[in-house]
Amino acid sequence: MKLHEYQAKEIFAKYGLPVTPGAVVKHLSEVDAALKQFPQGPWVVKAQIHAGGRGKAGGVKFAKTEQEVHEKAAAILGMTLVSPQTGPEGKLVKKIFITPAVDYVKELYVSVVLDRVNRTPIILASAEGGTEIEELAVTKPDAIFKIIVDPIEGLHSYQARQLHLRLGLPPEAINQGAKVFQTMVKVFMDLDLSMLEVNPLVVLKDGTIHCLDAKVDFEDNGLARHKDYAAWRDPDEEDARELLAAEHGLSYISLDGYVGCLVNGAGLAMATADAIQHFGGSPANFLDVGGSASQKAVTQAFKIILSDTRVKAILVNIFGGIAKCDVIAQGIIDAAKEVGLSLPLVVRLEGTNVEKGKELLAQSSLKYTFASSMDEAAKAVVAAAKGGKS
Ligand code: GDP
Ligand code: MN
Repeated sequence: MKLHEYQAKEIFAKYGLPVTPGAVVKHLSEVDAALKQFPQGPWVVKAQIHAGGRGKAGGVKFAKTEQEVHEKAAAILGMTLVSPQTGPEGKLVKKIFITPAVDYVKELYVSVVLDRVNRTPIILASAEGGTEIEELAVTKPDAIFKIIVDPIEGLHSYQARQLHLRLGLPPEAINQGAKVFQTMVKVFMDLDLSMLEVNPLVVLKDGTIHCLDAKVDFEDNGLARHKDYAAWRDPDEEDARELLAAEHGLSYISLDGYVGCLVNGAGLAMATADAIQHFGGSPANFLDVGGSASQKAVTQAFKIILSDTRVKAILVNIFGGIAKCDVIAQGIIDAAKEVGLSLPLVVRLEGTNVEKGKELLAQSSLKYTFASSMDEAAKAVVAAAKGGKS
């Protein structure tokens, strides 16, 4: 679960990390109140969306006067921001953050992420902040330091001090710097984050460091332990189909393609996506209806897939293990009827009671193509999606 910058900064402030407070504005009529709360300019007006790269996309603007704050707020609020992280369709800006601008002399990059190979948190840091870390990793990988964090003790004091010096920060500010790095790791571990990123972390004129931006991503499986923060989820920023699927106990993830997938089991769902890709298609989603794949789940799954207008054909790929193929076949028939399915449908069933399942499908009025193997199913659905015969 991602949070907005203003929420991440609230957490940072609670932990004593250096951030500048600001006001969240959802409507232009609230700008005056924000200025009353933070009367000292200049200001920065920042789009609050769950994606980075806002600055380059025009979502972060400097304002010298109150009049300019009003102008920049009007320009950003309601705009559709397109950055490399939003996807081509962009994101509508529904909230902005108005905050006093910070004067700084240098930009750095610091993040804490989980290293799955090491099975520890690690710090990634670079004296070259501001730019995208992905870009830096390609063009100048040596400019990024990696520090392995003790998963029980956190960042040791000597590691924090070494990092401070390696980043070329002023030695006289080493106590403040080391404390900031240790605190970032503490926030990451306390809250079960999967990512904490400050880009840029800036050096002020007095040599101390300050968090100009803040990004956190909670590990969803740890959220049950952080109910207060779980309530901060912003549904406006999340994929509507993913939210609906979660409500019905389905694991659904939106992808970029056009072949709808309805599969039981996460492994089979991934293999299905690979097979579609292998035969020249592109999956619109990952969808695991779960081991039991009840008719209700199948109906809901069809509804979610069909609400995606990019979908050109659907592949149902079910392995009947605990779930029986005949029950699932009936589920598909009923669900297709209920939702008025008109897209090409390819069905592959395998496992317990498969013959009974095939019989039910054959006797129904459902229009579909039956495939007896994964390859056949993937080929057929890709052809159907591309306008060929299903
Ligand atoms: P992002 O582009 O989504 O990562 O948004 P950031 O919060 O990192 O802001 C983008 C850029 O705007 C920063 O890299 C800075 O160059 C600039 N910026 C943001 N806030 C301030 C500020 O308070 N003062 C100054 N001088 N520049 C700022
Ligand atoms: Mn940033």
